[in-house]
Amino acid sequence: MSQYKYVLQEKDLPTHWYNILADMKQPPPPFRHPATLEILQPDDLMPVFPEALIKQEMSLERWIEIPHEVRDALKMWRPTPLHRAIRWEKALDTPARIYYKWEGVSPPGSHKPNTAVAQCYYGKQEGLKGFATETGAGQWGSALSFAAQMFGLECKVFMVAISYQQKPYRRIAMETWGGAVVASPSTMTKAGRDILAVDPETPGSLGMAISEAIEYAVTHDGFKYSLGSVVNFVLLHQTVVGLETREQMEMAGDYPDIIIGCAGGGSNAAGLIYPFLKDKLDGSRPQLRAIFVESTACPSMTRGIYAYDWGDTAKTGPVAMMHTVGHGFVPAPVHAGGLRYHGMAPSICALLEQGEVESRAYHQNTCFEAAVSFARAEGFIVAPETAHAVKAVYDEAVACKESGESKVILFNNSGHGHFDLAAYDAFFRKDLSDYELEEDKLRQALADLPSVPV
Ligand SMILES: *Cc1c(COP(=O)(O)O)cnc(C)c1O
Repeated sequence: MSQYKYVLQEKDLPTHWYNILADMKQPPPPFRHPATLEILQPDDLMPVFPEALIKQEMSLERWIEIPHEVRDALKMWRPTPLHRAIRWEKALDTPARIYYKWEGVSPPGSHKPNTAVAQCYYGKQEGLKGFATETGAGQWGSALSFAAQMFGLECKVFMVAISYQQKPYRRIAMETWGGAVVASPSTMTKAGRDILAVDPETPGSLGMAISEAIEYAVTHDGFKYSLGSVVNFVLLHQTVVGLETREQMEMAGDYPDIIIGCAGGGSNAAGLIYPFLKDKLDGSRPQLRAIFVESTACPSMTRGIYAYDWGDTAKTGPVAMMHTVGHGFVPAPVHAGGLRYHGMAPSICALLEQGEVESRAYHQNTCFEAAVSFARAEGFIVAPETAHAVKAVYDEAVACKESGESKVILFNNSGHGHFDLAAYDAFFRKDLSDYELEEDKLRQALADLPSVPV
């Protein structure tokens, strides 16, 4: 009899997060100060992030203990199941063995609360009143609103305007969990007012919303800023995903040849991939392939350049060495709102440069096609972001069919698409555009990068 899923007990929840910086040949270059461009000091971040998280950001410790209270919060929905996609394998007629880690079972429906609960725990420990943050598709804002409620904190969410309009249900979910949501750019901050003065019709961007959230946090007593992706501590918190999956793959008696995740800032993909990539970095699994998948509408890894850039539009956040399409870049309004960030996690970018991992990009129509194929076999309707990972798995599974190889393919099914059905509807009505970023627009966006002293 076939086994469809591999399930762990609450007692099997990881006790430590895995920090890949300890095992990289060369960790990513340090962050720079947004104004002086000098190497960023921990003190510079104090007004922005809780102290415990700044320590984690800079840490080179391989294993960092997960506080008891955080494990307790995670147990509400973790460990999450690992599924074998037996029905989809049959539908694709592939000899590949396909596994997916299902993160859609969390209350907000994605991997994002894995870091949200940790950040709220440390914020509460530090005596904060609340967090300000940005959200694209609304997944991160939902996760933080949910976690803030769990730990008795306030949550102020600046939501990218285009998503605020396209996805009212996400806003309502945030409000249900007690979050306060405003469309960004807004008139509540100087950053927002400055942007609106230049372009009152702007669809907004994550870069703009980050600027507003940081400004709100540093100008409101008892508030700090919370970030849902990109930085080291977020990727660290997400490694519970891969650590659980290692146990589950062992139960299945398999080890992945290829691991795939979609990447906006890179946190769900890294969360699954890093605990396995450890084996490649230490030489025990040299053949392991890891693929980060992005949107052609915001192709930081596949078409951006590797350079220092600001993390946000208003140049108030830390400057990071990363693959970027430019902090002023406003991506086309694709439905995968979570894949519209102009940069990428610095650790992923360093690993790309070192040839340890791969990247690729897809147009949205082909992703929805793969996601529909997946839904008709496996049942789950995935988020538009996740559909990018599903498409990469689809291509690898088809390649296995052609070559006759039965590779083991593992991907992170990062969240459900129940609030994104309008996007599926647009796909069925052939109403979805594929956006190829013009060379001109890219060059223009890359013209204003900082010149960092070395
Ligand atoms: C936010 C989100 C993403 C993209 O963010 P990462 O930090 O790259 O993981 C992917 N999938 C889902 C379901 C999301 O909500």
